[in-house]
Amino acid sequence: MKQYYVVLRSVLRSRPHLRRGLSRCRHCRIFFLTHPRNAGRRDLRCPFGCREAYRKRRSTERSVAYYATAEGKTKKKMQNGKRVRGGVGADANPPVPEAQQFPAGMVGYVAMVASLIEGRRVSETEILQMLAWAMRQHSMARRRRMDYVVAQLHKHGP
Ligand SMILES: [Zn+2]
Repeated sequence: MKQYYVVLRSVLRSRPHLRRGLSRCRHCRIFFLTHPRNAGRRDLRCPFGCREAYRKRRSTERSVAYYATAEGKTKKKMQNGKRVRGGVGADANPPVPEAQQFPAGMVGYVAMVASLIEGRRVSETEILQMLAWAMRQHSMARRRRMDYVVAQLHKHGP
């Protein structure tokens, strides 16, 4: 958290024009950068979970409201029937393997902030590639550390 604010502060110091987009989550009060088109809005939620949680809650509310209607009740009955007969839906939407590792909306947010900072369009694909690279570096470093420990153990005995 402290690290996050250090980064945010240094970004704002080096890119003062981004200050306009500094926003505060109405739910958890964390500061975050938002797209300039949202500058000045005070009703935003942060991309670190609050926005997603709110979106999910809204969609649950909507479907609860929908299934309370007569049309919804009929549809639900049909769906339940289908589920008993053949388990439709379980594999209808196979997950995207890479993006799945990160919280929803996070990659898009990082891409947006990276675009603002670099002054060019950074795509989500680029961010995913960068993250994959960073994770590979991380595990390589860990492996090197492990090799070192093992080598030391061999040298000096257990
Ligand atoms: Zn928040």
